[in-house]
Amino acid sequence: MAEEREKKILSLLEKSYPDAALVLHYKNPLELLVATILAAQCTDERVNKVTESLFKKYKTAKDYANVKQEVFEEEIRSTGFYKNKAKNIITCNKELVEKFDGNVPDSMEDLFTLAGVGRKTASVLLGNVFGKQAIAVDTHVFRVSHRLELAKSNDPDKVESELCRIIPQEKWTRACLVIGTHGRRTCIARKPLCDVCVVEKLCNSPDKTCVSK
Ligand code: SF4
Repeated sequence: MAEEREKKILSLLEKSYPDAALVLHYKNPLELLVATILAAQCTDERVNKVTESLFKKYKTAKDYANVKQEVFEEEIRSTGFYKNKAKNIITCNKELVEKFDGNVPDSMEDLFTLAGVGRKTASVLLGNVFGKQAIAVDTHVFRVSHRLELAKSNDPDKVESELCRIIPQEKWTRACLVIGTHGRRTCIARKPLCDVCVVEKLCNSPDKTCVSK
């Protein structure tokens, strides 16, 4: 029964957001890597503003590896936690130059060896630029998964495992984009738009802002 409900939720969401895609702007794996590190604790919209000029100046891993940290900090300051992010991006790009010939690797194992790259960042890259199936649990995916009882854990890595169990592997990347888009557009954090939500009848969340008819 639970399986039927989950299937129905995922199918309704899929139909609802045919245009689901990453909000972050990027043209290649390196740009997505940098943008995803910058997006921690920051809105994608803010990151897009910062990367508009950043990506014109920094084109290769070498470009990032050679920048002075104080200069880079100022360039990304408005994304918050800029000291840590600057350090991670510069170190990560030095590692790309030293270990991967300046290229972003396409395996979880190799991505994990890079500074500032955790499970979420690695999954974003694997799913969106390397054509693999991966679920990246960001704040939106986490919130929607909980509200719709698709996952229970408070640990994002465990939420990823829970979602991987209920979503067929060939749909991981797409389903993750669809769930995230639902979180951004409808099941928003503060006041979800439940009266226009396509899965409202299947939702038992205490955060609901309307009563099912
Ligand atoms: S009914 Fe409301 S809380 Fe439930 S999934 Fe839809 S928008 Fe989110």
